[in-house]
Amino acid sequence: MGSRSSRPARPIRSGHYPAKELCSQCGLCDTHYVAQVKEACAFLKQQFTELEEQTHGRSRESVRTGSPTSEVSDTDYFGIYEEMFTARKRDPIEGAQWTGIVSSIGMKALNTGLVEGVVCVQADAQDRFKPQPILARTPEEVLAARVNKPTLSPNLSVLEQVEQSGLKRLLVIGVGCQIQALRAVEKRLGLEKLYVLGTPCVDNVSRAGLQKFLETTSRSPDTVVHYEFMQDFRVHFKHEDGSVEKVPFFGLNTKQLKDVFAPSCLSCFDYVNALADLVVGYMGSPLGWQWLVVRNRRGRELLELVWEDLETQPVVSKGSRQAAVQQGIQAYDQAMTLPMWLAHLMGAVIERIGPQGLEYARFSIDSHFTRNYLYVRRHYPEKLEHHVPAFARRIVGQYRLPKT
Ligand code: FAD
Ligand code: SF4
Ligand code: SF4
Repeated sequence: MGSRSSRPARPIRSGHYPAKELCSQCGLCDTHYVAQVKEACAFLKQQFTELEEQTHGRSRESVRTGSPTSEVSDTDYFGIYEEMFTARKRDPIEGAQWTGIVSSIGMKALNTGLVEGVVCVQADAQDRFKPQPILARTPEEVLAARVNKPTLSPNLSVLEQVEQSGLKRLLVIGVGCQIQALRAVEKRLGLEKLYVLGTPCVDNVSRAGLQKFLETTSRSPDTVVHYEFMQDFRVHFKHEDGSVEKVPFFGLNTKQLKDVFAPSCLSCFDYVNALADLVVGYMGSPLGWQWLVVRNRRGRELLELVWEDLETQPVVSKGSRQAAVQQGIQAYDQAMTLPMWLAHLMGAVIERIGPQGLEYARFSIDSHFTRNYLYVRRHYPEKLEHHVPAFARRIVGQYRLPKT
């Protein structure tokens, strides 16, 4: 009698995932944990408050007690945190996305025995942008996973391998939607200790979407090794020959690029990876530096592994973002594209007088949350109430949005 009900659920092989077109391919449904999908999927059940309480012992909503309902705080923007830093590796890792802080932590966590395995993403042997999630057991395997694969990645597909390996202490590296599902099934994984090292994430794409983005935006799509939307308001494409191509945000072909981002990412409000223990990005720091958000004690343990290898500075916040965000809402909505000479000029001006440090991070969060709010309102009106978290509503509420 019991054997039937205890048989593990079958992973989805049909390509038809429960969240349908909103699926971000996080990998959960490629495992028997598909049985938990309704409770775990970031697009079927929005549960930041509950999962923040479970992970950090407090939530963005619980720390607001007493604040007027419309007031927007740094916790709304950056999630629960104990401390933030600006940092870079004294000895950067060649070929990493930035200075390689993420890879260094992963390697040290194995070297010191803090964990026995690291979930991370290597690239397909034939296609550097196609993700290949792995359970790394050696520092060399973690190093081989350095640099972003800027496409949807099924990181959680290795959860069954974790279970079969019998390991008890695990580090997972991942982006927000993956970590939301991970936290929801965390207690079922049979681990003694789980560490989560997150990166911020926004505007992700399918592999086909990435091709369109590269072809629309770069002068040489086939030689791009990596790219990033930088704090100087330009996309930096690094090419195979080491050259760096800079394209101003304001010169992007908005009309052609509107449908390039995955629907999941146009509906996502977890830019800052709220449920990770430690987040390593760049957008709250000056150009060339990384931005570290320590959310809890486990995050501090991870940071301590590499602390002596880092140069650090306090975070700063300069300028004012609001006018630029408000203008951007209208320009994006009307799919306006500027001539390249004007885009370069605007980029240069805004870099000098525009938002910097944490204010740049707020600029980017505001711009993406307003766009995503409008996307959900227009395409999934029935999801608007439950899917958009309260902190995102407070952020979006600072701006005038189109009526329809
Ligand atoms: P590295 O040492 O090079 O390590 C990179 C790690 O990322 C590897 O361990 C790998 O396992 C993991 N990884 C690679 N691709 C993926 C993927 N598709 N899904 C999950 N994990 C992956 N930071 C910001 O501050 N602002 C942003 O707007 C922003 N957007 C991002 C968008 C995407 C799609 C991604 C993947 C990351 C983004 N980041 C953003 C994070 C940032 O680009 C760097 O990844 C981060 O600062 C770490 O740099 P590093 O040199 O320490 O990483
Ligand atoms: Fe399943 Fe993840 Fe897709 Fe949700 S996002 S349907 S949990 S694979
Ligand atoms: Fe996942 Fe959000 Fe990143 Fe898309 S933008 S891959 S939904 S974390």
